[in-house]
Amino acid sequence: MDPYVQLLERIAHAAKLSLEEVERKVEGKRAKLSGLVSREGAAQIVAAELGVNFDKEQFTIVELPGVKRANFVGQIISIAPVRSYSKNGREGKVGNLTLGDASGTIRCVLWDTAHISLVEQGTLHVGDTLEISNGMMRNGEVHLSSFADIKQSSVKLSGVQMQAVASPKRIEELQPGMKAQVRAFVVQVFEPRYFEVCSECGKRMGEGGCAVHGAVQAKKRALLSLVMDDGTESCRAVLFNDQIMQLGLHEEEIYSLESFALKKLSLLGEEHVFTGSFRQNTLYNTSEFMVESLAPVVASELLASFQR
Ligand SMILES: [Zn+2]
Repeated sequence: MDPYVQLLERIAHAAKLSLEEVERKVEGKRAKLSGLVSREGAAQIVAAELGVNFDKEQFTIVELPGVKRANFVGQIISIAPVRSYSKNGREGKVGNLTLGDASGTIRCVLWDTAHISLVEQGTLHVGDTLEISNGMMRNGEVHLSSFADIKQSSVKLSGVQMQAVASPKRIEELQPGMKAQVRAFVVQVFEPRYFEVCSECGKRMGEGGCAVHGAVQAKKRALLSLVMDDGTESCRAVLFNDQIMQLGLHEEEIYSLESFALKKLSLLGEEHVFTGSFRQNTLYNTSEFMVESLAPVVASELLASFQR
């Protein structure tokens, strides 16, 4: 079921109203706010006005982007290495887990040292089921501060999604952290930018070569930005080598700016199905769609999935 409808049903149930009444209130709220809030955001405001409190309620993962406080059970799908950062002269660490249940997957960002040490000490394993409480939803991710709890859970989840599910979306519906499939036209293409990666591990090279492999041979890679538009809105999309080739460019057209300039015109106005994830670029405060794959529009197959 549509997670938004699920959210409305929860509100309706808690407030002892009909689904239609709640929906009308939410649409009214959105209209009053000139459409500046998302449906989910407006539903939250309506819930608060009705005195409905979800702070203790457990949700499925697909419902989380529509709530403020995240309480849920999920299985660990991947654990990223803990990263260090420095901000305003202060050092800190941040951890990342991806959890899944039968409805979808979600990224959890760990800020608390006690939680981060669970990752560093190897206490958490891929496949473990965790109960998360008091997480805060931000940009489609669950952020865990020292007020949040991570507990091992004995709940047996079945049919856990191992990968984020990309469902068809319109650009205006995209929210940071969301994995989606967008059918859109290419309306603008920028010149590719180049960078070097380690030929051993494929990670970006630093000043003195690869952080792990040292002064190894570098491989040249390309990054291409374009603007796509599906009629509801436009958004910047970012493609790397494999995806640039799926766009129909050869090696030569990727790495020679002259060949690229000739090819560029034929890319404009083309329609593709872009699969990837929508991200907030915190450095520039912009949003971009990181393309993982793209495919030509095959009318017959796609009509069904995009019709509303
Ligand atoms: Zn390397």
